[in-house]
Amino acid sequence: MTNVTHIAPRDKAEILAQALPYIRKFHGKTMVIKYGGNAMTDPALQAAFAEDVVLLKLVGINPVVVHGGGPQIETALKRLGKKGEFIQGMRVTDAETMEVVEWVLAGEVQQDIVGLINHAGGKAVGLTGRDGGMIRAQKLKMLDSADASKEHDVGQVGDIISIDPGVVKALQDDAFIPVISPIGFGENNESYNINADVVAARLATVLKAEKLMMLTNISGVLNKAGELLTDLTARQIDGLFADGTLSGGMLPKIAGALDAAKSGVNSVHIIDGRVPHVLLLEILTDQAFGTMIRSH
Ligand code: ADP
Ligand code: MG
Repeated sequence: MTNVTHIAPRDKAEILAQALPYIRKFHGKTMVIKYGGNAMTDPALQAAFAEDVVLLKLVGINPVVVHGGGPQIETALKRLGKKGEFIQGMRVTDAETMEVVEWVLAGEVQQDIVGLINHAGGKAVGLTGRDGGMIRAQKLKMLDSADASKEHDVGQVGDIISIDPGVVKALQDDAFIPVISPIGFGENNESYNINADVVAARLATVLKAEKLMMLTNISGVLNKAGELLTDLTARQIDGLFADGTLSGGMLPKIAGALDAAKSGVNSVHIIDGRVPHVLLLEILTDQAFGTMIRSH
Protein backbone atom coordinates (compact mmCIF):
# COMPACT_ATOMS: atom_id res chain seq x y z
CA MET A 1 0.00 0.00 0.00
CA THR A 2 1.16 3.54 -0.70
CA ASN A 3 3.26 5.12 2.01
CA VAL A 4 1.84 8.54 2.89
CA THR A 5 4.21 9.49 5.72
CA HIS A 6 6.23 11.68 3.34
CA ILE A 7 3.25 13.96 2.59
CA ALA A 8 3.57 17.29 4.38
CA PRO A 9 0.90 17.98 7.03
CA ARG A 10 -0.27 21.04 5.12
CA ASP A 11 -0.87 18.94 2.02
CA LYS A 12 -2.70 16.36 4.07
CA ALA A 13 -4.98 19.07 5.44
CA GLU A 14 -5.59 20.30 1.90
CA ILE A 15 -6.54 16.80 0.77
CA LEU A 16 -8.96 16.42 3.66
CA ALA A 17 -10.51 19.83 3.01
CA GLN A 18 -11.17 18.85 -0.60
CA ALA A 19 -13.47 16.09 0.61
CA LEU A 20 -15.79 18.59 2.27
CA PRO A 21 -18.07 19.29 -0.73
CA TYR A 22 -18.58 15.54 -1.19
CA ILE A 23 -19.27 14.97 2.49
CA ARG A 24 -21.80 17.78 2.43
CA LYS A 25 -23.44 16.44 -0.71
CA PHE A 26 -23.70 12.87 0.54
CA HIS A 27 -24.43 13.48 4.22
CA GLY A 28 -27.41 11.36 5.26
CA LYS A 29 -27.47 9.47 1.94
CA THR A 30 -27.36 5.69 1.61
CA MET A 31 -24.60 3.97 -0.36
CA VAL A 32 -24.99 0.31 -1.18
CA ILE A 33 -21.67 -1.45 -1.60
CA LYS A 34 -21.34 -4.87 -3.18
CA TYR A 35 -18.16 -6.36 -1.79
CA GLY A 36 -16.64 -9.21 -3.73
CA GLY A 37 -13.72 -10.34 -5.80
CA ASN A 38 -10.10 -9.97 -4.81
CA ALA A 39 -10.72 -7.07 -2.47
CA MET A 40 -12.33 -9.66 -0.26
CA THR A 41 -9.44 -12.09 -0.08
CA ASP A 42 -6.39 -9.83 0.25
CA PRO A 43 -5.81 -8.83 3.90
CA ALA A 44 -4.42 -5.35 3.16
CA LEU A 45 -7.34 -4.57 0.86
CA GLN A 46 -9.77 -5.95 3.43
CA ALA A 47 -8.41 -3.61 6.07
CA ALA A 48 -8.59 -0.62 3.70
CA PHE A 49 -12.17 -1.53 2.79
CA ALA A 50 -13.21 -1.71 6.45
CA GLU A 51 -11.56 1.65 7.17
CA ASP A 52 -13.39 3.26 4.24
CA VAL A 53 -16.75 1.93 5.39
CA VAL A 54 -16.19 3.18 8.93
CA LEU A 55 -14.99 6.57 7.75
CA LEU A 56 -18.07 6.98 5.54
CA LYS A 57 -20.34 6.17 8.46
CA LEU A 58 -18.51 8.61 10.73
CA VAL A 59 -18.95 11.49 8.28
CA GLY A 60 -22.70 10.86 8.17
CA ILE A 61 -23.03 8.68 5.06
CA ASN A 62 -24.94 5.38 5.44
CA PRO A 63 -23.04 2.46 3.94
CA VAL A 64 -24.89 -0.85 3.48
CA VAL A 65 -22.65 -3.78 2.56
CA VAL A 66 -23.83 -6.77 0.53
CA HIS A 67 -21.17 -9.42 0.16
CA GLY A 68 -20.49 -12.26 -2.23
CA GLY A 69 -18.26 -15.23 -1.56
CA GLY A 70 -17.54 -17.10 -4.76
CA PRO A 71 -13.92 -18.04 -3.96
CA GLN A 72 -14.77 -19.07 -0.38
CA ILE A 73 -17.71 -21.23 -1.52
CA GLU A 74 -15.50 -22.80 -4.15
CA THR A 75 -12.88 -23.72 -1.52
CA ALA A 76 -15.51 -25.24 0.79
CA LEU A 77 -17.08 -27.25 -2.03
CA LYS A 78 -13.68 -28.54 -3.07
CA ARG A 79 -13.02 -29.73 0.49
CA LEU A 80 -16.20 -31.80 0.18
CA GLY A 81 -15.12 -33.12 -3.20
CA LYS A 82 -17.77 -31.12 -5.06
CA LYS A 83 -17.12 -28.93 -8.04
CA GLY A 84 -19.01 -25.68 -8.61
CA GLU A 85 -20.92 -25.42 -11.85
CA PHE A 86 -22.22 -22.21 -13.42
CA ILE A 87 -24.88 -21.55 -16.03
CA GLN A 88 -25.12 -18.02 -17.43
CA GLY A 89 -23.19 -16.65 -14.46
CA MET A 90 -25.33 -18.37 -11.80
CA ARG A 91 -24.09 -21.11 -9.49
CA VAL A 92 -26.02 -24.37 -9.89
CA THR A 93 -27.25 -24.97 -6.32
CA ASP A 94 -28.41 -28.45 -5.29
CA ALA A 95 -29.51 -29.06 -1.68
CA GLU A 96 -26.02 -29.94 -0.46
CA THR A 97 -24.48 -26.93 -2.22
CA MET A 98 -27.15 -24.72 -0.64
CA GLU A 99 -26.09 -25.88 2.81
CA VAL A 100 -22.48 -25.05 2.00
CA VAL A 101 -23.46 -21.66 0.55
CA GLU A 102 -25.42 -20.83 3.67
CA TRP A 103 -22.73 -21.69 6.15
CA VAL A 104 -19.92 -20.17 4.16
CA LEU A 105 -21.74 -16.89 3.45
CA ALA A 106 -23.59 -16.33 6.71
CA GLY A 107 -21.26 -18.20 9.04
CA GLU A 108 -17.86 -17.34 7.69
CA VAL A 109 -17.64 -14.54 5.14
CA GLN A 110 -20.25 -12.26 6.69
CA GLN A 111 -18.80 -12.63 10.18
CA ASP A 112 -15.29 -11.96 8.89
CA ILE A 113 -16.49 -8.68 7.37
CA VAL A 114 -18.38 -7.76 10.54
CA GLY A 115 -15.19 -8.40 12.50
CA LEU A 116 -13.06 -6.30 10.15
CA ILE A 117 -15.42 -3.34 10.28
CA ASN A 118 -15.72 -3.52 14.05
CA HIS A 119 -11.95 -3.78 14.36
CA ALA A 120 -11.69 -0.57 12.31
CA GLY A 121 -13.95 1.17 14.84
CA GLY A 122 -17.40 0.67 13.33
CA LYS A 123 -20.47 -1.17 14.59
CA ALA A 124 -21.38 -3.72 11.96
CA VAL A 125 -24.31 -6.13 12.21
CA GLY A 126 -24.52 -9.23 10.04
CA LEU A 127 -27.83 -10.20 8.46
CA THR A 128 -29.13 -12.67 5.92
CA GLY A 129 -32.28 -12.12 3.89
CA ARG A 130 -34.15 -14.09 6.55
CA ASP A 131 -33.53 -11.47 9.22
CA GLY A 132 -36.47 -9.17 9.63
CA GLY A 133 -38.15 -11.03 6.76
CA MET A 134 -35.98 -8.97 4.42
CA ILE A 135 -35.60 -11.00 1.19
CA ARG A 136 -38.53 -13.06 -0.12
CA ALA A 137 -37.54 -15.27 -3.02
CA GLN A 138 -38.71 -18.01 -5.32
CA LYS A 139 -36.92 -20.47 -7.54
CA LEU A 140 -35.30 -18.70 -10.46
CA LYS A 141 -36.72 -19.67 -13.81
CA MET A 142 -33.68 -19.38 -16.03
CA LEU A 143 -34.28 -19.19 -19.74
CA ASP A 144 -31.46 -19.90 -22.14
CA SER A 145 -29.97 -16.61 -23.30
CA ALA A 146 -29.80 -17.79 -26.91
CA ASP A 147 -33.02 -19.84 -27.06
CA ALA A 148 -35.82 -18.59 -24.80
CA SER A 149 -37.84 -21.78 -25.28
CA LYS A 150 -35.14 -23.65 -23.35
CA GLU A 151 -35.04 -23.53 -19.54
CA HIS A 152 -32.10 -24.37 -17.25
CA ASP A 153 -32.59 -25.90 -13.82
CA VAL A 154 -30.12 -24.18 -11.52
CA GLY A 155 -31.58 -25.66 -8.31
CA GLN A 156 -32.05 -23.41 -5.28
CA VAL A 157 -31.00 -20.22 -7.01
CA GLY A 158 -33.42 -17.55 -5.97
CA ASP A 159 -35.25 -14.85 -7.82
CA ILE A 160 -36.18 -11.93 -5.56
CA ILE A 161 -39.91 -11.45 -5.05
CA SER A 162 -39.61 -8.51 -2.68
CA ILE A 163 -37.26 -6.81 -0.26
CA ASP A 164 -38.50 -5.35 3.00
CA PRO A 165 -35.79 -2.86 4.03
CA GLY A 166 -37.23 -2.26 7.50
CA VAL A 167 -34.48 -4.03 9.41
CA VAL A 168 -31.77 -2.26 7.40
CA LYS A 169 -33.32 1.14 8.03
CA ALA A 170 -33.71 0.46 11.74
CA LEU A 171 -30.02 -0.44 11.99
CA GLN A 172 -28.91 2.56 9.96
CA ASP A 173 -30.83 4.96 12.15
CA ASP A 174 -28.98 3.50 15.06
CA ALA A 175 -25.39 4.01 13.91
CA PHE A 176 -25.00 0.39 12.83
CA ILE A 177 -23.55 -0.77 9.52
CA PRO A 178 -25.57 -3.64 8.00
CA VAL A 179 -23.58 -6.44 6.34
CA ILE A 180 -25.90 -8.62 4.31
CA SER A 181 -25.48 -12.17 2.99
CA PRO A 182 -27.42 -12.79 -0.22
CA ILE A 183 -29.72 -15.53 1.04
CA GLY A 184 -33.47 -15.37 0.61
CA PHE A 185 -36.36 -17.43 1.95
CA GLY A 186 -39.30 -18.96 0.11
CA GLU A 187 -42.96 -19.63 0.74
CA ASN A 188 -42.19 -22.86 2.58
CA ASN A 189 -39.29 -21.36 4.50
CA GLU A 190 -36.78 -22.91 2.08
CA SER A 191 -33.47 -21.11 1.47
CA TYR A 192 -32.39 -19.54 -1.76
CA ASN A 193 -28.94 -18.64 -2.99
CA ILE A 194 -29.19 -15.29 -4.74
CA ASN A 195 -26.45 -13.64 -6.73
CA ALA A 196 -25.03 -10.91 -4.49
CA ASP A 197 -24.97 -8.36 -7.33
CA VAL A 198 -28.70 -8.86 -7.84
CA VAL A 199 -29.39 -8.40 -4.11
CA ALA A 200 -27.21 -5.27 -3.93
CA ALA A 201 -28.97 -3.78 -6.95
CA ARG A 202 -32.50 -4.43 -5.65
CA LEU A 203 -31.60 -3.25 -2.18
CA ALA A 204 -30.16 -0.03 -3.61
CA THR A 205 -33.44 0.56 -5.42
CA VAL A 206 -35.64 -0.23 -2.41
CA LEU A 207 -33.51 1.94 -0.10
CA LYS A 208 -33.49 4.76 -2.68
CA ALA A 209 -29.73 4.75 -2.40
CA GLU A 210 -27.68 7.61 -3.78
CA LYS A 211 -25.01 5.26 -5.10
CA LEU A 212 -24.54 1.60 -5.85
CA MET A 213 -20.91 0.55 -6.01
CA MET A 214 -19.98 -2.93 -7.08
CA LEU A 215 -16.40 -3.75 -6.13
CA THR A 216 -15.00 -6.49 -8.30
CA ASN A 217 -11.77 -8.21 -9.28
CA ILE A 218 -11.28 -6.41 -12.57
CA SER A 219 -10.84 -2.77 -13.58
CA GLY A 220 -14.45 -2.48 -14.78
CA VAL A 221 -16.38 -3.58 -17.84
CA LEU A 222 -14.01 -4.31 -20.70
CA ASN A 223 -14.68 -4.37 -24.44
CA LYS A 224 -13.59 -7.22 -26.68
CA ALA A 225 -10.14 -5.67 -27.05
CA GLY A 226 -9.78 -5.69 -23.25
CA GLU A 227 -10.09 -1.91 -22.94
CA LEU A 228 -11.96 -0.34 -20.04
CA LEU A 229 -15.36 1.12 -20.87
CA THR A 230 -15.65 4.07 -18.49
CA ASP A 231 -19.24 4.89 -19.27
CA LEU A 232 -22.11 2.75 -20.52
CA THR A 233 -25.65 3.61 -21.56
CA ALA A 234 -28.55 1.15 -21.56
CA ARG A 235 -28.35 0.87 -25.33
CA GLN A 236 -24.60 0.16 -25.29
CA ILE A 237 -25.19 -2.51 -22.67
CA ASP A 238 -27.78 -4.19 -24.89
CA GLY A 239 -25.10 -4.28 -27.58
CA LEU A 240 -22.55 -5.87 -25.23
CA PHE A 241 -25.05 -8.58 -24.28
CA ALA A 242 -25.90 -9.22 -27.92
CA ASP A 243 -22.35 -9.45 -29.25
CA GLY A 244 -21.07 -11.72 -26.47
CA THR A 245 -18.68 -9.21 -24.85
CA LEU A 246 -20.13 -10.06 -21.43
CA SER A 247 -19.95 -13.46 -19.83
CA GLY A 248 -19.92 -15.26 -16.48
CA GLY A 249 -20.25 -13.14 -13.36
CA MET A 250 -20.42 -9.95 -15.40
CA LEU A 251 -23.88 -10.93 -16.70
CA PRO A 252 -25.84 -10.61 -13.43
CA LYS A 253 -23.61 -7.70 -12.39
CA ILE A 254 -24.42 -5.53 -15.40
CA ALA A 255 -28.07 -6.58 -15.44
CA GLY A 256 -28.40 -5.59 -11.76
CA ALA A 257 -26.47 -2.37 -12.26
CA LEU A 258 -28.68 -1.34 -15.16
CA ASP A 259 -31.89 -2.18 -13.25
CA ALA A 260 -30.74 -0.03 -10.34
CA ALA A 261 -29.83 2.87 -12.64
CA LYS A 262 -33.20 2.66 -14.37
CA SER A 263 -35.02 2.47 -11.03
CA GLY A 264 -33.67 5.76 -9.77
CA VAL A 265 -30.35 5.01 -8.08
CA ASN A 266 -28.44 8.17 -8.90
CA SER A 267 -25.08 6.73 -9.70
CA VAL A 268 -24.13 3.14 -10.34
CA HIS A 269 -20.52 2.04 -10.69
CA ILE A 270 -18.68 -1.19 -11.27
CA ILE A 271 -15.26 -0.51 -9.76
CA ASP A 272 -11.91 -2.12 -9.19
CA GLY A 273 -11.78 -3.60 -5.70
CA ARG A 274 -8.03 -4.16 -6.13
CA VAL A 275 -7.37 -0.43 -5.74
CA PRO A 276 -6.74 0.36 -2.06
CA HIS A 277 -9.36 2.76 -0.64
CA VAL A 278 -11.30 2.73 -3.89
CA LEU A 279 -14.50 3.60 -1.98
CA LEU A 280 -13.08 6.82 -0.57
CA LEU A 281 -11.62 7.71 -3.94
CA GLU A 282 -14.95 7.11 -5.63
CA ILE A 283 -17.12 8.91 -3.10
CA LEU A 284 -14.99 11.70 -1.69
CA THR A 285 -12.83 12.79 -4.64
CA ASP A 286 -13.43 13.75 -8.26
CA GLN A 287 -11.58 10.65 -9.43
CA ALA A 288 -13.66 8.21 -11.44
CA PHE A 289 -12.88 4.51 -11.39
CA GLY A 290 -14.16 1.63 -13.43
CA THR A 291 -17.42 1.76 -15.32
CA MET A 292 -20.36 4.06 -14.71
CA ILE A 293 -23.72 2.64 -15.72
CA ARG A 294 -26.29 5.10 -17.06
CA SER A 295 -30.02 4.56 -17.25
CA HIS A 296 -30.44 5.78 -20.83
P1 ADP B 1 -17.45 -10.72 -8.34
O1 ADP B 1 -16.91 -11.48 -7.19
O2 ADP B 1 -16.97 -9.31 -8.35
O3 ADP B 1 -18.95 -10.82 -8.51
P2 ADP B 1 -17.38 -12.29 -10.82
O4 ADP B 1 -16.32 -13.27 -11.16
O5 ADP B 1 -18.74 -12.81 -10.49
O6 ADP B 1 -16.77 -11.39 -9.64
O7 ADP B 1 -17.55 -11.25 -12.02
C1 ADP B 1 -16.44 -10.55 -12.54
C2 ADP B 1 -15.81 -11.30 -13.72
O8 ADP B 1 -16.62 -11.20 -14.89
C3 ADP B 1 -14.49 -10.78 -14.16
O9 ADP B 1 -13.42 -11.20 -13.35
C4 ADP B 1 -14.37 -11.34 -15.59
O10 ADP B 1 -13.72 -12.57 -15.57
C5 ADP B 1 -15.81 -11.59 -15.99
N1 ADP B 1 -16.19 -10.85 -17.20
C6 ADP B 1 -16.91 -11.36 -18.23
N2 ADP B 1 -17.08 -10.49 -19.21
C7 ADP B 1 -16.46 -9.34 -18.83
C8 ADP B 1 -16.27 -8.04 -19.43
N3 ADP B 1 -16.77 -7.73 -20.65
N4 ADP B 1 -15.59 -7.11 -18.72
C9 ADP B 1 -15.07 -7.40 -17.52
N5 ADP B 1 -15.21 -8.59 -16.90
C10 ADP B 1 -15.89 -9.57 -17.54
MG1 MG C 1 -20.16 -12.46 -9.07
